[in-house]
Amino acid sequence: MPDHDSTAAASAASPQQGNAIETPMATPIDSDSRISICGAGLAGTLLALRLADEGFNVRLYERYPDPEREAVPSGRSINLALAERGRHALAEAGVLEAVDKITIPMAGRMVHRINGELSFQSYGQRPEEVNYSVHRDQLSRLLLNFARTRPNIELRFHQRLEAVDFEQRIAHFVDDRDGSRNDDAYDVIIGADGAGSALRKAMERADGIETHADLLDHAYREFTIPPTEIGDFAIEGNALHIWPRGGFMLIALPNADHSFTATLFLAREGETSFAAIEAGLDESADHYAEARLTAWREFMQEHFAEALPLLSQLPQDLETHPIGRLGTIRCPRWHLAGNALILGDAAHAVVPFHGQGMNAAFEDVDVLMQLLESHDHWDELLAEFQQQRRHNTDALADMALENYEEMRQGVRDPNHLAVKELEWALERSFPERFIPRYSMVMFHRIPYAEAMERGRRQRELSLKLLSMKTAEEKMAHAQQWIEANLTPVESD
Ligand SMILES: Cc1cc2nc3c(=O)[nH]c(=O)nc-3n(C[C@H](O)[C@H](O)[C@H](O)COP(=O)(O)OP(=O)(O)OC[C@H]3O[C@@H](n4cnc5c(N)ncnc54)[C@H](O)[C@@H]3O)c2cc1C
Repeated sequence: MPDHDSTAAASAASPQQGNAIETPMATPIDSDSRISICGAGLAGTLLALRLADEGFNVRLYERYPDPEREAVPSGRSINLALAERGRHALAEAGVLEAVDKITIPMAGRMVHRINGELSFQSYGQRPEEVNYSVHRDQLSRLLLNFARTRPNIELRFHQRLEAVDFEQRIAHFVDDRDGSRNDDAYDVIIGADGAGSALRKAMERADGIETHADLLDHAYREFTIPPTEIGDFAIEGNALHIWPRGGFMLIALPNADHSFTATLFLAREGETSFAAIEAGLDESADHYAEARLTAWREFMQEHFAEALPLLSQLPQDLETHPIGRLGTIRCPRWHLAGNALILGDAAHAVVPFHGQGMNAAFEDVDVLMQLLESHDHWDELLAEFQQQRRHNTDALADMALENYEEMRQGVRDPNHLAVKELEWALERSFPERFIPRYSMVMFHRIPYAEAMERGRRQRELSLKLLSMKTAEEKMAHAQQWIEANLTPVESD
């Protein structure tokens, strides 16, 4: 993202002082509040809908063109897993029924071993415990189309937030087609502008906030598995496919048009890495594209021989799908001066291995709207929102990193399956107190931090039980331990 936001934001306050913005009066929440949202992506558009339905006037700014009129630069995470938290937030906005029409249920992981063996591992143990694959662009357009029907949402495309004067409450936008500028006077500005958030950068400059961005040493590249000639899925349609290979993996999620989007997660540098695949290739050479394709085919043949014939668009995919970076953003402060807030990836981008980034961003919207009911001033509301959410999204960030290890390694490990079977048995016996961590995150709305802590304790129990010999001994210990250590889960 261009880093132009050093002008008004930086001059608005001294960055060294911290809390340098003056907030003379608390800002009342009323229907006249002028709310500007920066970023008409997933979270921004859902938030606009919810605020509009509460009677607020919302301006929704997006740096890119209207996708109904022009192609929008894409090339990242084409489809996404939608889980309970996201679905709940979509239901609260009244759009779940429409979203359900464009999703594909995935009941579990289809694991492809290197010897070609297949095994299916279901995600949960109840029929409703499934994840849903959804195409990012389709979902985004659907939400935007709902937004177009609300008279109190003003959609402004080609408007990139560049800088903010928090004291004067003026946001500066630029149209990158011609460099023209637009100043927007707001009461509250909300940044839903993704991991490279311009609003977060403006807040950092204005108030000395220090964000921690940890770039993962692994990156990703997406490929297409087209439908068969007769239009069917080329592999089982209601599953997330995974080819775990220890240090790296390929996964594939189904799309509504019966194609799959496959994603290779691999180290950026090192012996087996994106850099190694293309090492020695000269981009300026005449036969560069051919040589690159050969290098990629060799890599795929060695590690994913069974998947290679499915990747019939490999040449085009190498041209159009760049290698994407992955990382975690931890920002200590999400709000400023009672007039600015960041949420979604702007506040807490996580690595994608739990399939929760979008779900967490949607849950942010839901939590913010719930808090709106009990607050009269933006200042308190924004502070309370951070208070409720930040420790939870920090926990999600940790769990998402751990899940990468499990997906690359654990799904191949027989001990992993033994623990999973045992935890399901415990859930069946003690459904009010014991829920496997994966299920707490994906199929419930138990706060992330609580899911992580309960999951940690539960795993200790599981490992202890696995070391015991008889079923009677296990059951007696489990009953006593669970009653002493796990409170009943509040229903969600
Ligand atoms: C490979 C990969 C796979 C993933 N898989 C999953 C998954 O399975 N499930 C899941 O829940 N999550 C997944 N995620 C995470 C998910 O993509 C993000 O968490 C989600 O997109 C966050 O939504 P957002 O609205 O906060 O940000 P974004 O979707 O990034 O939207 C930000 C919007 O702001 C706009 N914008 C940016 N800068 C400006 C500016 N200066 N001015 C105006 N507008 C601006 C952008 O153009 C964009 O429209 C995945 C991510 C990756 C990379």
